[in-house]
Amino acid sequence: MKDIMQFIPDELARLKEEGLYTNIKTLESPQGAWVTIDGKKKLNFCSNNYLGLANHPEIRKAAKEAIDKYGVGPGAVRTIAGTMSLHKELEEKLARFKKVEATMVVQSGFTANLSVIPALVGKGDIIYSDELNHASIIDGCRLSRAEIKVYKHNDMDSLEELLKADKDLDCRKLIVTDGVFSMDGDIAPLDKIVELGEKYGAMTMVDDAHGEGVLGEGGRGIVDHFGLHGRCDVEVGTFSKALGVMGGCIAGKKELIEYLNQKARPFLFSSALTVPDTAAVSKAVDLLMESEELVQRLWDNGKYFKAEMQKLGFDTGKSETPITPVMIGDAKVATEFSKRLFDEDIFATKIGYPTVPKGKARIRVMISAAHSKEDLDFALEKFAKVGKEMGLIK
Ligand SMILES: *Cc1c(COP(=O)(O)O)cnc(C)c1O
Repeated sequence: MKDIMQFIPDELARLKEEGLYTNIKTLESPQGAWVTIDGKKKLNFCSNNYLGLANHPEIRKAAKEAIDKYGVGPGAVRTIAGTMSLHKELEEKLARFKKVEATMVVQSGFTANLSVIPALVGKGDIIYSDELNHASIIDGCRLSRAEIKVYKHNDMDSLEELLKADKDLDCRKLIVTDGVFSMDGDIAPLDKIVELGEKYGAMTMVDDAHGEGVLGEGGRGIVDHFGLHGRCDVEVGTFSKALGVMGGCIAGKKELIEYLNQKARPFLFSSALTVPDTAAVSKAVDLLMESEELVQRLWDNGKYFKAEMQKLGFDTGKSETPITPVMIGDAKVATEFSKRLFDEDIFATKIGYPTVPKGKARIRVMISAAHSKEDLDFALEKFAKVGKEMGLIK
């Protein structure tokens, strides 16, 4: 008889054969500028811990104190008995931080997208989605059962063409985009997107996962960066990147949040963010509101590293943020480069197809405020050494 589970080993073998299999590395230390992998210290260029908050002493302390006061688990979904004063305090604080009327906290950035999109549009409606949008946006769009129209990456002519063709259709329309695209580090032209939304009667939504804590005044995000307060209808964020913890956020008008409190399925059917997570995020927001120092250090580090890499002769792509892609092209060369850097104690991943187009493989360097100048100089020396050995630079 045929083994009905045979497709599993078959698929695993195919992934390995085609070089698409991910070997998952395990960290034996806290997340930081340096991490321990297989008992050895590696300079960490892989994490989204932009501000170094993932192991911040004040945030650790806030989480511990909250556990002593409120326990660990929320015990229920937000709408039944899972909403604690910690959640409400965080939501109010986030609204002040982001200068919006209201916010809603959910379990992750991924669930934030699954929460919002199907609540705003459904069958018979239309979504306009950037071709490079994050998987969680794509999944949220699919769950909504609205028609999905994909526009060319950051291409406003492509978006307007689609909107114009539909201008007489009487249905709900939603334009959705990542704020910062994490593979290239480029920024969505949200000002133009909002203008097009206003012109054609479409709602606008941005997922600012990589802009939160990075863009705008003191890390207030992409809406602040473009001064679009009150004009972009929905802002989604995550606490798992610059804020160093876990959890997701939706920000906008009071009525939108009240509506999502009644409609968003991950809010209604999946339990609340845990006590230590909630308290930790709250402390992270306090730190951002107190000082812009970390955000400034992140940008200084990014600018320094990018400029020095360019001096060495590397192509750092079209990044407008501290994310530094090192463009290689061939996937096998990029894999080899990443391996040899790892042997030199630099942990920087290769990003290849299908995450980026074929022939556009790269090493992606995630710069953090946690990196010291010595860390960056150490990395530059290793990039230069391996790059020369491999004939990638002169
Ligand atoms: C990382 C990321 C998410 C997921 O956030 P989590 O809080 O880790 O679930 C969602 N959207 C974008 C654009 C991201 O980069």
